[in-house]
Amino acid sequence: MEFDLTESVVREYLRDHPGEVRCADCVARALGPDVPGSAVSTAMTELADRRPPFAPGRCSCGASGLMFTRSAEPGSRA
Ligand SMILES: [Zn+2]
Repeated sequence: MEFDLTESVVREYLRDHPGEVRCADCVARALGPDVPGSAVSTAMTELADRRPPFAPGRCSCGASGLMFTRSAEPGSRA
């Protein structure tokens, strides 16, 4: 499903930028036009529900977003 693909792309993007908060708009912009912003937004909502390793925060653009943290429980491959 397209949604699952988007979620995994978003997850990898956040994981590539540990400790940096990104909002859905900035992630969508970084991922390019092939990834619909609405799908990114939905995926980030899903990821937020699954924290850790994702934690809420404020993006550099001022919007609320998510970041990947390394402080996941031991043994977790996150
Ligand atoms: Zn942003």
